[in-house]
Amino acid sequence: MGQLLEGKKALILGIANRWSLAFAIGQAFCREGAQLVLTYQGERQRLTVEELGVELGNAKVLACDVTQQEELDRLISVLEAEGGKLDAVVHSIAFANRDDLSRPFVETSKAGYLLAQDVSAYSLVAVARATAPLMKDGGSLLTLSYLGSTRVVPNYNVMGVAKAALEACVRYLANDLGPSRIRVNAISAGPVKTASARGIRDFSKVLEGVAARAPLRRNTDPAEVADTAVFLASEMGRGVTGNVIFVDAGFQILGM
Ligand code: NAP
Repeated sequence: MGQLLEGKKALILGIANRWSLAFAIGQAFCREGAQLVLTYQGERQRLTVEELGVELGNAKVLACDVTQQEELDRLISVLEAEGGKLDAVVHSIAFANRDDLSRPFVETSKAGYLLAQDVSAYSLVAVARATAPLMKDGGSLLTLSYLGSTRVVPNYNVMGVAKAALEACVRYLANDLGPSRIRVNAISAGPVKTASARGIRDFSKVLEGVAARAPLRRNTDPAEVADTAVFLASEMGRGVTGNVIFVDAGFQILGM
């Protein structure tokens, strides 16, 4: 079989460093022949993402804070100036205040709640609206979710509520964009030690619990998440939209 994403162009938002799930997705997309555009949030991350972009087939690297509409507009105008066609978009972005990931959920402030929703859920809607016109031949929009959207996971709190909204956004966007042959899905990944995950109190206990009890008796490898992202972005995934696909060593089936 040839490369699964040969001739395709993909935009990946959410690489912070080489441990980011989005970086693993970038590596797999690159391996399968996709041409990549990456974004970073804030000047602080620029150099790191530019260096990683070199490893990812000399990917183009652009700034984009997804909470700022003008930054999204600027990103789209740069992409349009370059011919403008996109085949896949990966949204791998989330944020909540550290305090809200360590104390009881009932203490979540309105500001903390809205911040988590804005960055982690609404941004998918903003990204979909901005990028859909560029997916002229149809395409794949993918986001990353977690089991805390539907089950209570200690300390995941406000982020679980944001992931519940994110998964609902996936379904509504899939219905809106389906007639344009744009498929919208989420991968619900098992826990992986990344910069964001380190913000969750006692995260290492979550990793230990999964390794001990998941049907595959181990944690999730980011490369497994990335290969599922390749499937969804490729022709192989052409019939799949509006889904939340678990790549979690099977942990989500457990009741006890
Ligand atoms: P990560 O490497 O820290 O990636 C999170 C990314 O979100 C970072 O690149 C961060 O940029 C970016 N971001 C935050 N606010 C942003 C904004 N306003 N505009 C643009 N980018 C922004 O952590 P990760 O674990 O790979 O997370 C990626 C996604 O996977 C998230 O949606 C996360 O919830 C999800 N997920 C993670 C796990 C896990 O266990 N790690 C499991 C399931 C799902 P900065 O670093 O510059 O702020």
